[in-house]
Amino acid sequence: MSAQIIDGRACARTLKQSLEADVARLRAEGLGIGLATVVVGDEYSSTAYERRLRRLADELGVPYSPRELPADVGQDELLACIGELNAEPSVSGILILRPLPSHVDESVVFRAIDPCKDVEAVHPDNAGLLALGVPRFVPSTAASCFHLLDTWLDSVGEDRAEFYHRCLIVVVGRSNNVGKPAISLGYERQATVSSVDEWADRTTGIGRHTRWADVLIVAAGKAGLIKAEHVGENAVVIDVGINGATGRDGKVRMIGDVDYDSVASRARALTPVPGGVGPVTDVWLLRNTVTAARLLAGQRIEQALPALPVARTAQVRTLQEKS
Ligand code: NAD
Repeated sequence: MSAQIIDGRACARTLKQSLEADVARLRAEGLGIGLATVVVGDEYSSTAYERRLRRLADELGVPYSPRELPADVGQDELLACIGELNAEPSVSGILILRPLPSHVDESVVFRAIDPCKDVEAVHPDNAGLLALGVPRFVPSTAASCFHLLDTWLDSVGEDRAEFYHRCLIVVVGRSNNVGKPAISLGYERQATVSSVDEWADRTTGIGRHTRWADVLIVAAGKAGLIKAEHVGENAVVIDVGINGATGRDGKVRMIGDVDYDSVASRARALTPVPGGVGPVTDVWLLRNTVTAARLLAGQRIEQALPALPVARTAQVRTLQEKS
């Protein structure tokens, strides 16, 4: 059997079209939008991601402010940079690219982001809202995994609710960045969700868990971790991994966490790398930036109004709901 290939680029194109309309609507309403990224150092996956975002923002006509800081940047300097972006009215979304160097305390850095500009939902307020099932922003990579799944289900004529309700989703990797948000989104779809991490790999091996998955989401950052023997015959496999592999010609190319050829010979459907999760993630991040622009516009209206009377507060709510 040869797996169906879930085409992330096609999915991203469709999503991008509706995003173009969203951006045009914002403009027509006179609302500003802007994305700022902060890259620390020159790690392969973060710089590749930043380049893609820069291109996409450019195509959408969304003002883009990249900040590049050296790998040895002090934490205070990084916090000062975030403070500037929080205060900058032309910036509606802020993305701090991971990984951050080990001398920087990620949790302190993420807490410093204005929660209404935190388009990747890394601030504890936003991570908490997601865990409670009432997200302000859905983190883009996990959102991309489920958007690809939903779109694929529609394409094969499966009822989404019926599929998820009887589905076992196994998520490999448990980072705050991808694994945990994906687990939350699985819960939201009322699926049975199980989480596998490197400790299982070191002890019992991950295959005893992953082989049962109807949907296997792999986000470990380990090239070729998942092979045919780890996957059931009817599995839908979503490969989140981005790893740089140097070929014989010395060129670095992008490969996933899934050993593509062997898994494609066994699974029911599979996302490729590149061309799977990544393109949809990019568009989703910009989509969250539109959401942030609307949130901030609502907030500014609220700040401009005098406190009370109640009727006015209701009017603000209506304005926010419309946006
Ligand atoms: P991370 O390093 O923060 O977390 C990796 C997780 O995988 C950890 O929980 C770790 O314990 C677990 N893990 C490591 N080795 C394992 C093993 N052998 N078996 C099971 N679990 C193991 O990484 P992350 O930020 O979650 O990203 C994961 C991968 O996804 C990376 O390759 C990253 O580049 C990629 N990524 C892709 C996108 C995209 O849009 N495609 C976006 C974000 C991250």
